[in-house]
Amino acid sequence: MTNQATLILIKPDGLKKSLTGNILTRLSETKLEIVAAKIARVSKELAEEHYRHLKDKPFFEDIIKYIRGELHNRHKVMALVYWGEEAITKCRQLAGSTNPEEAESTSIRGSYGRITTSGVYENVIHVSSDEKEAEREIKLWFQPDEVIVSLYPTKDVVEKEKKIKAWG
Ligand code: UDP
Ligand code: MG
Repeated sequence: MTNQATLILIKPDGLKKSLTGNILTRLSETKLEIVAAKIARVSKELAEEHYRHLKDKPFFEDIIKYIRGELHNRHKVMALVYWGEEAITKCRQLAGSTNPEEAESTSIRGSYGRITTSGVYENVIHVSSDEKEAEREIKLWFQPDEVIVSLYPTKDVVEKEKKIKAWG
């Protein structure tokens, strides 16, 4: 058995359509463990880094706007890490194909996705594509202490005079 971790994002259309509960219920069929979760704002830098493999595509600017919530007036995503046996394979299977019109109708994207008139695939959820991408994405979206299991090697660093926000 191969344990895998995958980043899951509930994209702004998923949040706007109140699909969080539905999507988490569908994902719970996998019996995988949620080892990190948060609501996050998506800066331009984070969005561009997340989708850097698509930088040369004609739809790049559109998907940056999409993941940042500019198409739905929802400036946030829900980010989670699922962990367990064949996590990537299982979550991608449940998510369905990238193009929601081609996705199996019972999959998450087949059930809730759409293609906009400008051609963007609004497919409500992101799942990492393979183990290498999962590691890159999880490290991009989460700090080590936000993940409750030890997925990748860490190191101790002393940060001097780093300004952080504390409760007032
Ligand atoms: N996308 C799109 N048109 C395309 C391909 C991708 O709008 O022709 C969007 C879609 O929202 C997709 C995201 O860009 O989820 C990232 O594309 P990728 O090829 O990584 O697909 P995924 O891994 O999300 O299935
Ligand atoms: Mg992808």
